[in-house]
This record gives sequence, structure tokens and C-alpha cells, in this order.
Amino acid sequence: MQHLITPNDFSNNEILDLFKDARLFGDLQTNSILEGKLIVTLFFENSTRTRSSFEIAAKRLGADVVNLEVQTSSTKKGETVEDTVANLNAMKPDAIIIRHSDCGLPASLVEYVDCPIINAGDGKNAHPTQALLDLFTIYEHFDGKTKGKKIAIVGDISSSRVATSNLELLPRFGLKPILVSPKKYKVSSIYKTTSKLKKIVNKLDIIMSLRVQHERHESNVLPEELEKEKQKYAKKYCITKKLIKDKDILILHPGPVNRNIDISDEILEDKRSKVLQQVANGVCVRMAILKKLILQKK
Ligand code: ASP
Repeated sequence: MQHLITPNDFSNNEILDLFKDARLFGDLQTNSILEGKLIVTLFFENSTRTRSSFEIAAKRLGADVVNLEVQTSSTKKGETVEDTVANLNAMKPDAIIIRHSDCGLPASLVEYVDCPIINAGDGKNAHPTQALLDLFTIYEHFDGKTKGKKIAIVGDISSSRVATSNLELLPRFGLKPILVSPKKYKVSSIYKTTSKLKKIVNKLDIIMSLRVQHERHESNVLPEELEKEKQKYAKKYCITKKLIKDKDILILHPGPVNRNIDISDEILEDKRSKVLQQVANGVCVRMAILKKLILQKK
């Protein structure tokens, strides 16, 4: 049985096969491939896109979905997540999708289950389905010719699981990352890092803008200070028309976008921005992932 905890759980060939299925599911129409299957979602951290994307993907494949209400669940009564998951597993679901703020938690749960676990984000550690949908969006945009394409991942690199998972995945398909962030969000990396987006913009094929993960930072900053910090950040890192001019650059963002801080209103409406395409691709890629993990399960 296979789980999806990080992008490295799938080989490149498995990913290319997933993309074939994702293309077939691209019209997001309903079928009955997973009819009679039951999928449980367990989100201990906030989510709009990922949770609804998984739920829609499962329903489009004809599966039933149970969203466990974490706020009212037994973890609030002192039960460990491991016990919650073991109890859910006893009810024989066909897959469990989990998001939690603890890095490594989804990986530690695989020994408690008889069905695939899909990591929908664990702290700043990994977000494999986001990286797979990002790669799919890039792959389709460049007609599979991803080798040598330069991608700037811009923002809060040190706290972003989207950055971590994309850095694990994209280079496997020949993409060349450059990490762009203010010094305080910088990580040491085998890839080029810089704090100066303007200086490298001419070389880029893709910009992946990321939100600053304020919820993962110290929270004793006054609201006015935070606002000042956001404006200061935006001056150097917001993706604007002034920055990218008419260059042919694919603009991505995993959402939620902080408008005019991460990407300007104007660029969000520009045809180079594929942010909503990423959302649509999220559903068909997750359909392909659910199909693969559930139907191949022995
Ligand atoms: N939605 C993405 C995540 O869950 C990115 C973000 O929250 O900024 O990590």
C-alpha cells in the first residue's frame, strides 16, 4: 500500500502517469471510478482550497466523503491524533486525508492505518499535492519542456511547506529554482538564493509567489507594525507590472493570495497569471492521486 507524505513518494514515471489521468479528468466532470469508496478528511489547520479541492475531487470520482469536524472531535477531549486515526481506521475508510501543524505527523500515522494516508500539509514540512499540481500547471504550460526553465520561488521560504515540497519535486523535472526572500525568511540551500528579485527578473521563466506565513511567526507584533512590515515587503517582492513589464513569465501562487502584497491586482488579472488554473488543476490532479492510491491498494 502506498501513502503520499512527500513528493518523493512518487517516482517520475508515476507522476507522468498521474498527469495522464489528470488530463483525462481535466473537464472536472463526474464519473463512478471510486463509487462505493469512502474518504475521510481530517483538517487540524485552516484550509479553504485544499479541503474543498479534495472533497470535490473525491465526489467527482463518485466517492463518499466524511469531513471530521476537528473542533468538536475527541482530540478536543484529550484523545491523541494517533488514537483518533486508529479509531477512524477501524471504520474501514478507503483513504484518510490529513492536515496538521506538526511536521512529520502524517508520516507517523501510517502504522495506525490499513488505507492510504494523504498529507494535505504538515506545518512547514510538506504539501505534496500542492507541489504536484504546481508541477502539472508548469508542465502543461510548457508542453512538457520543463528542462532548464528558471523558476523564482519568492517569499517566506523558511516557513513555507509549498516551497519545501516544490524544491523536492521541481528539480527532478529539470527546473532550476532560485530562492528569493528577505534575509529573515532565507534558508541555506543548494540552490541560488537572493534577496533582490528585480536583479534576476530578466532571467526568469516562472515566478511562484508565496504568502508570508504570519501565523507561523511570533505573534506579539502590533497590528500597525505588521501592516508596516507588509508594505515594506510588498515594495520589494510584490509581483507587479512595473517589475515584470511585458516579459513572458508564468505567474503562480498556491493561495490564499494577499492582494497587492504578494501579487498586484493588475497582474492577477493578466493572462500570464495562472493562479485560478492552478486551482482547477488541483482538482484533477487530486482526482488522479485518489484514483491511484485507492484503486492500487492491496
Ligand atoms: N495554501 C498553502 C498552504 O496550505 C499556502 C499558504 O497557506 O500560504 O501551505
